[in-house]
Order: sequence, then C-alpha cells, then structure tokens
Amino acid sequence: MDLFEYQGKQFFASFGIPVSAGDAADTVDDAVAIADRIGYPVVIKAQVQVGGRGKAGGVKLANDTAEAREHAGNILGLDIKGHVVHRVWVEKASDIAEEYYASFTLDRSAKKHLGMLSAEGGVEIESVAETNPDAIAKIWVDPVDGLTPEVARAWVEAAKLNRKATDGAVDILVKLYTAYVEGDADLCEINPLILTPDGRVHALDAKVTLDDNADFRHPERAAWRGLEVMDPRDRLAKEKGLQYVGLDGSVGVIANGAGLAMSTCDVVNQVGGSPANFLDIGGGASAAVMANALEVINTDPNVKSIFINIFGGITKGEDVANGIVEALGRVDIAAPIVIRLDGTNAEQGRAILKSHESDSLISQPTMVGAAKKAVELAGGK
Ligand code: GDP
Ligand code: MN
Repeated sequence: MDLFEYQGKQFFASFGIPVSAGDAADTVDDAVAIADRIGYPVVIKAQVQVGGRGKAGGVKLANDTAEAREHAGNILGLDIKGHVVHRVWVEKASDIAEEYYASFTLDRSAKKHLGMLSAEGGVEIESVAETNPDAIAKIWVDPVDGLTPEVARAWVEAAKLNRKATDGAVDILVKLYTAYVEGDADLCEINPLILTPDGRVHALDAKVTLDDNADFRHPERAAWRGLEVMDPRDRLAKEKGLQYVGLDGSVGVIANGAGLAMSTCDVVNQVGGSPANFLDIGGGASAAVMANALEVINTDPNVKSIFINIFGGITKGEDVANGIVEALGRVDIAAPIVIRLDGTNAEQGRAILKSHESDSLISQPTMVGAAKKAVELAGGK
C-alpha cells in the first residue's frame, strides 16, 4: 500500500522523525480553519499519490487567511497528472536553508537494504541519478547488523551534507531505518529532508510504501485503507482473491501455481512477446476461479491475446477443461485465447476443449508452442 504524504508523516512521527505540525482537510473551509489554528505562514499541499506536486501547482505557501482560502480553493479539485485532489494537508511553513534526499528500499539482488542519501534534494532523484550520480551516497545495510549511528555518520559525511546538518541527519536516518524495518515498509523516502537556517533537520515530504503482507502485524493501519489509489485491475483481483500483478505487455497470462505463472511470463518473453500480467489461480482451476481470472484480464485494454497455461496435478485435466468452458460461458472475452493443458488426464481435458475450439479458442499441446501462438495473435511485442 502506498501512503499519502500526510499518512506517511503520521507514520514517520510515530518513529520519532521530526515533521511539521499540520492537519488534513477535504474542504476549503476546513483547510482555512486549520491554517488559522496553526498560525501563518502555512503550506497547503495536495494529497495525491504522484510526485512533482510542487511543479504542478499543488504546493502553495499562504501568509494569511485570504491566501489560505485562495490556495486551498485552487488546489482542491486540481488534476495532477490524472490524480484529482480531494484532500489537502495544511502544515506550518518551514524556513529552508538546504534540501536533501534520503531513502531506504530493498536491494533484492544484494539481499540488503539500500540507503540513498544526497545533498541534492528537492528534485527528483531519478534526474540526479542521471545527471550527477556521484551526488548520491549509497549504503547497503545487512539486515542482521542494522544501521548503527557510527555507520550513519560515515554515510552522512560521504554525502557531503552541510556540517550543521550532521547530527540531525544521523538521528533521522537511524530512525528512518527503524521505521522502514519495524514498520514493514518497502520504501521510505524523504524528499526534501531539510536543514533550517537555525540548524534543525526535518522531513518536509514523506513517500512510504508499506508491505501489505505484514498487515496482520499492524492492525492500526486499517484506518489508512480504503483511501489508497489502486489500479482498477489490481483492485478487482484483490476483491476476487487472485494473485495478480499487472505488467505492461500484451499477452494476458493465467497459470496454476506461482512457479508456472513465472515460467509462463519467461516463455512469453523468450518467444518475442511480453506478458500483460502475472496471474496465479492456485492449485485448482474451477470454473469460478477461471471466470474471475478471465474477468480481471478482460478489463486490461492492452491485452491482445490470453495464454492459459495449466498443469494438472491433483486437479484432473477434465475438471480444468470443464472449468474453462464454463468460465467462457460466463464471461464475454474480447481477446483470443490459447490454452496449453498438460499433466494428469491431459488427454481427456483436451478432448473436452476440442469441441469448443475456434479461431478465438486454440489448444496447443506444448508450453512453447502455446506461447508462440499467443504472441503471434497479440501481434508480437
Ligand atoms: P513534491 O513536489 O510532490 O515532491 O512535494 P514536496 O512536498 O516535496 O514540496 C515541493 C517543494 O515545495 C519542496 O521541495 C520545497 O522546495 C517546497 N516546500 C514545501 N514545503 C515547504 C515549506 O514549508 N517551506 C518552504 N519554504 N518551501 C516548502
Ligand atoms: Mn517531494
């Protein structure tokens, strides 16, 4: 789950990371009331899950009630890169001497947590990485060791932050690491992390992605749910209890078992296509589950063909085939479907499919053959 900035700041504050005092509002009147209460100047910030709000006019400084009313009115309802603003965050404005960047994510190939710190903050880190990669100091933290203040200090020195910021930055980075690990986050990013003219270090923005698999450890997070912006396909898949990951190719993939689903994506790539998704329907392949899977894939306009790859184990081939046929009766599918059915009682299963075959329902005995056919029907990449 991606958090909105104001939720990310609540999350940071619960780990002792300094953030500005503020409150969220859904109406202009509420925003003005919060601003009056906090005291001017305040910053009014669009709560949308997309970067570059500042440049898009979604972050404005207000010096008095009239300005607060004007900015809140302009920001609420604003469309930022396709995200309409329904909520603003109003916080005490900070004086900024310098803007830095700090983040933790997981580096899967290194099997370590990756920390990135830069004296060039406030701008998108991708552009710093492109134009001036040396300006990003990286550390890889072994999860067993954790991040000690000593290591954090050396890291801050390597990033060449202003000396005045060293102690504050070390304190925040150790807390940010704790928030990232104990808070079960996949990403914790502060951009900008600021140094104020009077020498305080402070998080001015918050970008946090939480690991949904750890939700059971954090019942308090239920309040953050329901507001998150999800891809409609992801939302539908979640409602249907399917293991679905949207990708950007043109071949819809359905397989039983995560391993087979991954191999199917690999094979689609290997024969020159690209998968539109990963979808594991689990061990069985009942009509209901198959219909749900097809329904989710059907909502993706990029899908030009569908590759159903089923290896029957405990589930028998004829049950799978009957499930597929029944599912096709329930859902009106736009794209042609290629089915590869193998494993237990595959022959019986294929015999059932035979009478339903057409230009838009093709059975292929092998995985590679089926992948090639699906990619061909999708028109290549
Ligand atoms: P983003 O553009 O979506 O990343 O939104 P940010 O929260 O990072 O804000 C964008 C920029 O607005 C920051 O880099 C700051 O330069 C500026 N800004 C945000 N809050 C304040 C504030 O309290 N005081 C001042 N002076 N500038 C601010
Ligand atoms: Mn930012």
